[in-house]
Amino acid sequence: MLTGSIRGRWHLGARIGKGGFGEIYIAYDFKTQLHVAIKFEKSGCEKEALRFEIEVLTKMQSSVFVPNFIFSGCNKEYNFLVMDLQGPNLASIRRNHKNRCFSLLTTVKIGIEMIKAIKDIHKAGYIHRDIKPSNFVLRRGTKLVDLIKGRPSNERSTLTCMLDFGLARKYLDKEKRIIKSRGEVGFRGTARYASLNSHIGQDLSRRDDFWSLFYLLVEFLKGELPWSRVKDRKLIFELKKKFTNRNLVKGLPSQFALFLKYIIKLKFPDIPDYKYLISLLKQALHESDCKERDKIMDWEKD
Ligand code: ADP
Repeated sequence: MLTGSIRGRWHLGARIGKGGFGEIYIAYDFKTQLHVAIKFEKSGCEKEALRFEIEVLTKMQSSVFVPNFIFSGCNKEYNFLVMDLQGPNLASIRRNHKNRCFSLLTTVKIGIEMIKAIKDIHKAGYIHRDIKPSNFVLRRGTKLVDLIKGRPSNERSTLTCMLDFGLARKYLDKEKRIIKSRGEVGFRGTARYASLNSHIGQDLSRRDDFWSLFYLLVEFLKGELPWSRVKDRKLIFELKKKFTNRNLVKGLPSQFALFLKYIIKLKFPDIPDYKYLISLLKQALHESDCKERDKIMDWEKD
């Protein structure tokens, strides 16, 4: 547990997250008098994923879907990254929500933002490789009404933002050509949301971010996936192989079957059709009987 202050500027508060490689703390910035989030990683640790994460976050600063980068540094004990403090992550929001699922409106609104966020990271030359609900947080202070009314695009006024670029990977070379698949490289990502390609250890590409997004959206709507209660990765793989078909989207708007049909066809180097996937989500909402008064996000209802 870290306490005290960093560089005499950031006073550490509570720990708000703990992941595979690091810990995230809330901190008070004496200079700006605002709260921030600081991600720590032990220095000298084998992977030094934070250094790479900082590289990706910095390159993505023109995207409205990432937190604002504030500072990064290191000392003998740890490397750290200071960024804007955001709200709770979508995994915890879903878990604490009624029936553990989100309405179609909420799923579509945040799903569209997620597609745009993925498009932005792809545009920056990286694949994320760990798309999952805990890697998206609610943007602090944003309400649905802001989103509906629209804000200037240079303001970061989105509803959600994307985090955690520790597993991201470049997919373009210096000449902006797609780096060829390296073949079998081992599992990457999080078992529940990983694509079948990842389970068989194949090198990942842009399509795999959409496979993870697909599983995430189904989980949001249904409250669980057939392998949600399973911990063993091999068993998850078996269940995923068995259930990744039309049955998985049974009971959902037909556009989710089209989403699945589309991503099944994507090959390693293909550019995903972001617009098409967004249009499917919009259509799903349009065709539903979601009334105007229901146009409020699930977490704003209480
Ligand atoms: P790890 O790479 O160690 O898994 P993440 O970057 O995924 O760490 O962060 C873990 C959790 O910490 C997130 O799910 C989120 O709840 C919280 N978190 C991380 N960054 C922020 C931030 N800028 N603002 C608010 N919460 C954050």
